[in-house]
Amino acid sequence: MPRAAQAIIHLDAIIANYLLAQSFAPQSKNIAIIKADAYGHGSVQVALALQAYVPAFGVAIFEEAVILRDAGITKPILVLQGTNDKSEMQYAANNSIWLMVQNERQLQLLIESPLTGVINIWLKLDTGMHRLGFQESDLERVYQQLKYCPWVSDPIVLCSHFSCASAPNEEETVLAVERFQTMTKRIKKIMGQLSVAFSLANSAALLSQPSALLHWNRPGIMLYGISPFDEPDKTSLALQPAMTLQSSVIAIREINTGEGVGYGKNWLATRPSIIATVAIGYADGFPRHATNGTPVYINGQFAPLVGNVSMDMITVDITDCHPIAIGDIVELWGKNINVNEIAQRAGTIGYELVTRVSARIPRVYANG
Ligand SMILES: *Cc1c(COP(=O)(O)O)cnc(C)c1O
Repeated sequence: MPRAAQAIIHLDAIIANYLLAQSFAPQSKNIAIIKADAYGHGSVQVALALQAYVPAFGVAIFEEAVILRDAGITKPILVLQGTNDKSEMQYAANNSIWLMVQNERQLQLLIESPLTGVINIWLKLDTGMHRLGFQESDLERVYQQLKYCPWVSDPIVLCSHFSCASAPNEEETVLAVERFQTMTKRIKKIMGQLSVAFSLANSAALLSQPSALLHWNRPGIMLYGISPFDEPDKTSLALQPAMTLQSSVIAIREINTGEGVGYGKNWLATRPSIIATVAIGYADGFPRHATNGTPVYINGQFAPLVGNVSMDMITVDITDCHPIAIGDIVELWGKNINVNEIAQRAGTIGYELVTRVSARIPRVYANG
């Protein structure tokens, strides 16, 4: 029998979440961001499920695009970091892969010698994140170089990325939109509307910042049913969790008052207690930093984690639960436990938890 530890991926939830994103931005084209193996959900399977709905996919790095092409995914794929390799640029031109150009080196490599065919380029602007992209003082020159490069197709997409959108109504996001508008206004004036397109919004901006909705949006985390916001809000409640991480109880014991559990015994029983051991640990991607009291869900009840998370196991206090038996299924996150709650207990964000579910956990695809 296979180990009960698995991540059940609800593909219909991912489709529903994509359609929700569309409903927030019906005038835009919404690229489904499936970088980092679709945030741990399996990029090929997620792309197969979404390909009938989306205009294009987005990934972080070139290799992720090649995996999708090799699996037969045919929709355009945007590579958000671009590439520093001329042969990859040629592969991109041949295979409907769109490249971000985010630094001078990528630009020079692209324009210095011809590509066969044409390539779709997204030009990244730095509006305050200070991570990737060109500054305002470079924009006009860079844009002209791309514009008059015969192997760069029309329109060039001008884009940027927000640093603080996860706090809704954050002043910085409004300022970043304004900086973007100021930077792009001149280009619009010189070139006319038609030869340029724009893109700003990630999930958080898509849900909370109407002024950021332009020709293209780039939702990622929300497709997986995870709120992009630090504090849960109304709209994010409409999202459907796409991953259920579960395992099973593999041992149960009774301990006395004053006895400790697990490595370092960082939890001591304050009463006679019943402890269930569950077969999932930090080597599976359950966070080592989850604190005592972090909830798990067993047979319709919540029970608190007690003791340190081990590599392959956790321990749970089931003293107050209805009877539980070896083999019972335990949800770590999913429909009953929000992954962001577990993340908060571990001092991180839901993005990190789902992307770090390890290769030891089989992804099982469900429709429902
Ligand atoms: C990851 C990423 C996105 C998607 O962000 P979410 O917060 O997951 O919606 C969009 N744009 C860029 C440039 C990204 O790197």
